[in-house]
Amino acid sequence: LVGDDGRIRPTIFAEMSALAARTGAINLGQGFPDEDGPPEVLAAAAEAIAAGVNQYPPGRGNAVLLDAIAAHQSRFYGLDPDPAREVLVTAGATEAIAATLLALVSGPDDEVVVFEPYYDAYAALVALSGARLVPVPLHWPDFQPDLDRLRDAVTDRTRVILVNDPHNPTGAVFSRHARGEIVALAERHDAVIVTDEVYEHLVFDRSHVPIATLPGAFERTVSISSGGKTFSTTGWKIGWLTAPADLVDAVLAVKQFLTYVNGAPLQPAIAAGLGLPDSFFSGIAAGLRSKRDLLGAGLAAAGFDVSVPAGTYFTVADAAALGASDAAAFCRELPARAGVVAIPLTAFVTRERRAEYATLVRFAACKRVEVLAEASARLAALR
Ligand code: PMP
Ligand code: GLN
Repeated sequence: LVGDDGRIRPTIFAEMSALAARTGAINLGQGFPDEDGPPEVLAAAAEAIAAGVNQYPPGRGNAVLLDAIAAHQSRFYGLDPDPAREVLVTAGATEAIAATLLALVSGPDDEVVVFEPYYDAYAALVALSGARLVPVPLHWPDFQPDLDRLRDAVTDRTRVILVNDPHNPTGAVFSRHARGEIVALAERHDAVIVTDEVYEHLVFDRSHVPIATLPGAFERTVSISSGGKTFSTTGWKIGWLTAPADLVDAVLAVKQFLTYVNGAPLQPAIAAGLGLPDSFFSGIAAGLRSKRDLLGAGLAAAGFDVSVPAGTYFTVADAAALGASDAAAFCRELPARAGVVAIPLTAFVTRERRAEYATLVRFAACKRVEVLAEASARLAALR
């Protein structure tokens, strides 16, 4: 977050996308799709603008979207949040995470347990909240939570266990056993589970299981998602959370002074997306699964060891097999060596813990098939 000169650094995503733009390399760094999502969703946004849905929406969100979020939770997961009291629309999942942390934790006596490597905003937002970050490692190659370390990490000082499942940057989907252990520890130490499930519909060969569906979990869980990944609208920043009413009220108290509201005409468009038939949702998972396989085959052919992800946009590969000892240096050289940009996993871990992840690299598979094929052909030059 803060560099050696005391200034807040640009995110790794801004840095790597700039590197791709500068060198003309294929950008498999920042996770965003290079194709538009469902035409129904795009058309609904244009229609809403033309129909004059252009002023501040209600603070909790457009009623059509609140209803659609609740109906989606019911259709896919059997959850039944009250759209008027247990749902909140936010400026992306990022604002949902930020407002939730700012609402629930305040000083260094409050601890937030995170799974490491973690999405980089988590460490930054915990730092902005003033709380202490307590990382629990996920180990190569399957990146499941280290449950002994988790049991040591969760104490009566733990205010929040911040879960991300399916997990960025590793692509892991947490096991049932790990999820159950998280809920049991949260209950024992009276912690709130904050779960970022933005990749809920990008899970391969199985169905997503929200942690809020586990017995005893809903009443202490803030579940966060976003339309960005599901509808390929990462630039729209329409996110949401579902939680018991008292938790939603606490988060809303903060959120009203962060952005107040956002994206008026985009909210009914995301509602239209959430109402698409089941075949849309299974289709995006199947499409990304074949891209994962294409990228994975290209990485293996180039000489990497590959961790096959169970979900998300991302695949982690070990460059040690190619003689690399420092993935950050490897990624800086990758545009010149192979015309591809990727992200070192060390960007997602605390400074003291970099050694374990020193040779690991994250590649994004959410690109057109011909782009992935070209990237694979270029990476073959590394051999
Ligand atoms: N959480 C995770 C794990 C992500 O990968 C991302 C986005 N890329 C976000 C949150 C941010 O989502 P949004 O753009 O909806 O703020
Ligand atoms: N979530 C995307 C990623 O992990 C990028 C999000 C961002 O640029 N902030 O690559």
